Amino acid sequence: MSGARERLRNIVNMGMPQVSPFVKETDMNIYEGKSVFNGVAIGKIRVYKKGEQQVKRVKVEDAEAEITRFEEAKLKALEQLAGLYEKALREVGEANAAIFEVHQMMLEDDDYNDSIENMIRTQGINAEYAVASTADNFAQMFAAMDDDYMRERAADVRDISERVLTILIGADGGGTVTEEPSIIVADDLAPSETVQLDKDMVLSFVTVHGSLNSHTAILARTMAIPALVGTPLPLDGTVDGRLGIVDGAEGKIYIDPDEETLSRMKERQRQETERKELLQTLKGRDNVTLDGKKVMLYANIGNIKDLATVLQNDAGGIGLFRSEFIYLEKEDYPTEEEQFQIYKQVAETMAGKRVIIRTLDIGADKQCDYFQMEHEENPALGYRAIRICLTRPEVFKTQLRALFRASAYGKIAIMYPMITSVREVKRIREIAALVKAELTDQGIEFGEPEQGIMIETPAAALISDELAKEVDFFSIGTNDLTQYTLAIDRQNTKLDEFYDAHHPAILRMISMVVENAQKAGIWAGICGELGADQSLTREFLAMGVDELSVSPGSILPIRKIVLETNVEEYKAGR
Ligand code: PEP
Ligand code: MG
Repeated sequence: MSGARERLRNIVNMGMPQVSPFVKETDMNIYEGKSVFNGVAIGKIRVYKKGEQQVKRVKVEDAEAEITRFEEAKLKALEQLAGLYEKALREVGEANAAIFEVHQMMLEDDDYNDSIENMIRTQGINAEYAVASTADNFAQMFAAMDDDYMRERAADVRDISERVLTILIGADGGGTVTEEPSIIVADDLAPSETVQLDKDMVLSFVTVHGSLNSHTAILARTMAIPALVGTPLPLDGTVDGRLGIVDGAEGKIYIDPDEETLSRMKERQRQETERKELLQTLKGRDNVTLDGKKVMLYANIGNIKDLATVLQNDAGGIGLFRSEFIYLEKEDYPTEEEQFQIYKQVAETMAGKRVIIRTLDIGADKQCDYFQMEHEENPALGYRAIRICLTRPEVFKTQLRALFRASAYGKIAIMYPMITSVREVKRIREIAALVKAELTDQGIEFGEPEQGIMIETPAAALISDELAKEVDFFSIGTNDLTQYTLAIDRQNTKLDEFYDAHHPAILRMISMVVENAQKAGIWAGICGELGADQSLTREFLAMGVDELSVSPGSILPIRKIVLETNVEEYKAGR
């Protein structure tokens, strides 16, 4: 077990130092965390706090239209509160539910609304700013009152305002926290928050909490930017706005670096650029070993904006498009047409290369308000992914229609997550057949995508011989497979010392799944984070893994290993 951290280090291809308290050296502060992706980022630090910094003061042309925007957001907030009241009434009784009634009343309060509308009208500013300022003013007013009850209303006015702000910002697709490329420092970032950040403005992520397998960590790897999690640094003025250096290899962030550190890190940055340039010479080469074994090297993405890095890194295809990010970015279910346009764009951009789109994997840590899911004790073991799709066929069918239609424009493959049984796969195939029949009846063009499944539960791995008869391919999701096999919540950083990414149970399952795929004549790949573990590349080649789908930045380093490996020699020597 002591080697667990050591081995995890390889997954992310960088050092993962022990967490330690910060060391103060002259005026420069250094904090240590767990490294998610290597590289050096130098820039201004912005502390991201939920709901706060997303608000900028912006002049608007049409104040009346802005007031309408506010009113629409308010109506939506009232609907949410009514829903919460009903839910709380059922689950925790009338007395506890009453707070949501109070919130609805506050949101309809004339003084509160007049203040916001006046600000928008007289100053010609955006609704977000008017709501945030009114919230501040009213909260201060309540906080200054003598009466205990009234003083407590300060928190409520902030709460309702934040709800309206979230809706306003979400409706705008905004959420930018910064106007210049910056190092984003936060307590933690939920997937729904990360998706709202303007990625062009993010040089690096550093979070106080969060685990190496969290989706924020995965996102940082996709973006190929240095990132740290589990970094005990303060989220205040001693950090915000200061110059920072994130050193992904050493797992450190320097605040107000001294001259010597700054020039040393600039030199490291230069060397890294050089190394990346060297890897660029591998572009265009086949992924073939010295003894002629080929492997497909594909990329994982969560957004069409990631396509540029996919092409830059010469991916042979897309091995995992996490389509749930399309849902997380929206305030309501994305329509068939919206999804069709996105899938078509990916298929067309990849120009005939395989694009594996995973159907929505909402649930567990990826929560979407409008799915209105009940509170669960164990969400990772709960209502998620294919379980939602099979019980809400209307949601599933909308996505499948979009996917089948987009398949006419490129080589799309559909992949289903969180499979545990043959029965589920059979039901999925029935629904897919139904979707195709409907499209045929309606005279709508569609393609014939491959249909495969993720092997990310021990159940699926153990019955992979049977599952192989039902599908066109397997892709092993090692993140969840490890979580469910070792009974370790992938989000829980306290369990890091028990998390052994190279546990023999996992490696045996991978080998078994690949063998069962080969017997059935289908291909098998790995799309979990372990696929990018360069210390295992030769082992995966020896197992006969057909495909590795990794963050775009890992493709060329892995190609280098493939080109330098003789699989038969490696097998003889292990
Ligand atoms: C996995 O579980 O390994 C996987 C690729 O899916 P996700 O990380 O999105 O759960
Ligand atoms: Mg998974």
